[in-house]
Amino acid sequence: MSFVTRFAPSPTGLLHRGHAYSALTAWTSAREAGGRFLLRIEDTDFTRCRAEYETALLEDLAWLGLDWEGPVRRQSDHRAAYDAALERLRDQGVLYRCFRTRKELMALAGVAPHADDPADAQAFAGGPLDPAEETERLGAGQPFAWRLSLAAARERLGGFGALTWVEETADPGIRTARPEALGDMVLGRKDIGAGYVIASVVDDALHGVTHVVRGEDLIPATGVQRVLQALLDLPTPIYRHHPLLLGPDGKRYAKRDGSVTIMALREAGVTPDELRAELGFA
Ligand code: GLU
Repeated sequence: MSFVTRFAPSPTGLLHRGHAYSALTAWTSAREAGGRFLLRIEDTDFTRCRAEYETALLEDLAWLGLDWEGPVRRQSDHRAAYDAALERLRDQGVLYRCFRTRKELMALAGVAPHADDPADAQAFAGGPLDPAEETERLGAGQPFAWRLSLAAARERLGGFGALTWVEETADPGIRTARPEALGDMVLGRKDIGAGYVIASVVDDALHGVTHVVRGEDLIPATGVQRVLQALLDLPTPIYRHHPLLLGPDGKRYAKRDGSVTIMALREAGVTPDELRAELGFA
């Protein structure tokens, strides 16, 4: 059986040990399977991505000893493909316009507007507006996002019970998608258009990715992506969601913690071999 996997970082900051762990896990699994390893730059969100982070991550991964098949796919060069997928969903009637601001959504959900978890806002998207109000807002030129209507998707697919995927982890088995965990997600944003959730699904299919190796923080997103695969007639890869690497304080690494970036380790004189060994890839 062929084996194709990828590492798909977003250049919104410098890579840290957690990314190194994830990239090494994917790269090693491709090696072990005699398969292919691809690199994809997930930079659809131009409000957060920066060219210098892309340059740095390519350098960091090469320093770590990883190699990948070219050409590297940069998602910002392929927006039309993701917008086309969004349009297809819209034509299926499974999207609705959301004019609400983040603040309005937070108020709707009864949570503080500073709450860090966007899932709160998504879960309480409030559903489609009544047609009269929607027409009025459209007429006034108000910007809107496109949200996935889980109710409409459920109806179109005859329920979500058959939406499963194979998880190959320490606890292997069949998982059933639970897209409700993230509510009616925004698939097309007011500013950037189609975003990560769609782009990732489209590209995995385009590249024939057979195994998605990534952190377990993306399991909730997998539920929604599984729904999108069904709606867009795309294949479902096997998933290997690995546990997140924890720092000495027991917390997961985050991009904002500059002290543990790969760049900082390189500058401090750590060698690639040392970092690989520390991460368990001796
Ligand atoms: N771009 C995502 C991230 O950096 C990864 C998505 C994926 O591997 O599917 O978290």
